[in-house]
Amino acid sequence: MKPASPDHQPPADADARRARAPVICYPVGGLPAPDLALYRAARETARKIDEVTVPPRDARSFEVPAGGFFRITCTEGSQVGDLNLWNAADLSERFYSGKTRALHGTHLSTGDQLWSSFPALRPMATITRDTLDWYGFDSFGGAVHDVIGTRCDPYTHNLLQGGQYHHCCHSNLTRALAKARDLPPAKAEPHVHDVLNVFMCTGFTRDTGQYFMKTSPVRPGDYLELFAEIDLLGALSACPGGDCGAEHSSDSAACHPLRVEVFAPAKDALAGWTPPPPNGYDGSHGL
Ligand SMILES: [Zn+2]
Repeated sequence: MKPASPDHQPPADADARRARAPVICYPVGGLPAPDLALYRAARETARKIDEVTVPPRDARSFEVPAGGFFRITCTEGSQVGDLNLWNAADLSERFYSGKTRALHGTHLSTGDQLWSSFPALRPMATITRDTLDWYGFDSFGGAVHDVIGTRCDPYTHNLLQGGQYHHCCHSNLTRALAKARDLPPAKAEPHVHDVLNVFMCTGFTRDTGQYFMKTSPVRPGDYLELFAEIDLLGALSACPGGDCGAEHSSDSAACHPLRVEVFAPAKDALAGWTPPPPNGYDGSHGL
């Protein structure tokens, strides 16, 4: 955090330096835009091929074939979900929260894409429906579906409060991946990564720049729906923080299940569409 009483006096031109206008780091106008009209037309033809209930304070995995859709729904009470995504055929290609944030901003909504790690760096999924898109940014600077948090985890919990808590999203996701790919926990854990915080309402405090959370505005019936750009393995944790209005990493918050449904469109509904290829950089790094 920035010191309240800096050691150094501002220079004479401090105000002029601060007044320089910001420049967007990664203008996304040059990115190929996802064909939302095509995706939504294909969705009209889709049928449900799988449904998974994620129990409170636990996680479950699911698979979505390329060209399919998955919908995460709040079913019983306000609840936050922590989402991990992998290339179903290669766990080393996984959701890259930081680059997604750099490209699309701190909080995602319809039309934004979830990008994968290097060297593939390609869209893994595209958000096609978001019933909380009305929320925007509130007066605190909070918004939903962030890519600024990491996931609650037992290490940070131990650091800050001590103790052993096994139902943080990190551990929930580790167990779900271990089961999905028949891996021992120590082999599964390194594949767990920074999440998309589905339904979570977060931001940075204006005065100190600290990461904050506040009660999620999600209500039963709300959902986030995504189009799978490649074959996906997903895992979703129903965060022990519940609506994340008070605390996480404990059993004190009211927690609710989440539902994941997977849909496959009719054959030929995506005519002309193909999964995005891996990134075009040749990987030689000047050597
Ligand atoms: Zn969590």
